[in-house]
Amino acid sequence: MTGTMGLGSWQSSMKSAIRDARELCRQLHVDVESIGLSADGESQFPVFVTQEYLSRIRKGDPRDPLLLQVLPTSFESNSSLGFHKDPVGDGAVEVVPGLLHKYAGRVLMVLSGACAIHCRYCFRRHYPYSSAPKSLADWEPALDYIASDTSIHEVILSGGDPLTITDSVLSQLSDRFNGISHLKRLRIHTRLPVVIPHRVDRKLIEWVQGSRLSKWVVLHINHAREIDEDVADAVRRLKSAGATILNQSVLLRGVNDSVESLFELSERLMDIGVVPYYLHQLDRVEGASHFEVEPELGLRLIDELNTRLSGYGVPKYVQEIAGQPSKISVDALERLEIVVR
Ligand SMILES: *Cc1c(COP(=O)(O)O)cnc(C)c1O
Ligand code: SF4
Repeated sequence: MTGTMGLGSWQSSMKSAIRDARELCRQLHVDVESIGLSADGESQFPVFVTQEYLSRIRKGDPRDPLLLQVLPTSFESNSSLGFHKDPVGDGAVEVVPGLLHKYAGRVLMVLSGACAIHCRYCFRRHYPYSSAPKSLADWEPALDYIASDTSIHEVILSGGDPLTITDSVLSQLSDRFNGISHLKRLRIHTRLPVVIPHRVDRKLIEWVQGSRLSKWVVLHINHAREIDEDVADAVRRLKSAGATILNQSVLLRGVNDSVESLFELSERLMDIGVVPYYLHQLDRVEGASHFEVEPELGLRLIDELNTRLSGYGVPKYVQEIAGQPSKISVDALERLEIVVR
């Protein structure tokens, strides 16, 4: 830690984020007319891009793989058969408000509806966050549920992005987890260390260190160029606090649907000590059909990666299918005779 960041500086990064597609194009010298901006997509799911992430986007390139992740285009109004508002069946596994119990041994808390970036392909873009718990008191039913089920060994903090909530709520929750004896692992699904690296400040590190559970942080990075030195430093700080760091990506047309792109991403992740965990087949959420990559291509890309990378450098290529007891390896879909589309 340099110690140069003032208190609350990550909140000021949230405040100074770009929330307007035209402003984004203006700053990047991208011609609005050439890309088919979508006012419609923007009103359903507003633009949100931090200055930190913006600085990694190439100027003047409407096809930049980082830009494509955040810029609403007219493709979002394509209505496509098989694309839904809740493609992964989260509604059916919400056992008490904000708590999803979908898989054995672990539960997922939807801690926040807010993110520090709005990814256009996000499967939670239609999630009913307004009904989710907000205060610690709202979380009591979830904490009771976890305490009363001794088969639960892991709590996953997710969202939205769980690191958009205050350190004080995080630490109150963590104190409660520490007191539930059957809990062994704390997992944090976050994109904050990527889009606002100094969110990983001294207080956050103290919070991570203060948990008696084993700590797992799953980042979300889709392209090697999302990782600059500040991101690498944030990862170093998290590791020094005792966390194991993994990454999940989504296979996205135009962003990372090539061997070179996925190879470079894995290399870059390994360079900074992050294990590529999952490569997700796109969840079929309304408004994101233009990002979909054919599973046949995805499988070929993985085959090729296997010939070029260390075993731990190749992510598991999976698809989430509502009602299944785990995320399913795409190359097992046929064997399991699961009908997806
Ligand atoms: C993806 C997911 C998990 C975690 O699954 P892993 O395969 O352990 O990474 C847990 N709960 C829910 C609701 C999920 O969607
Ligand atoms: S950070 Fe994650 S939850 Fe937030 S918009 Fe992006 S994909 Fe969705």
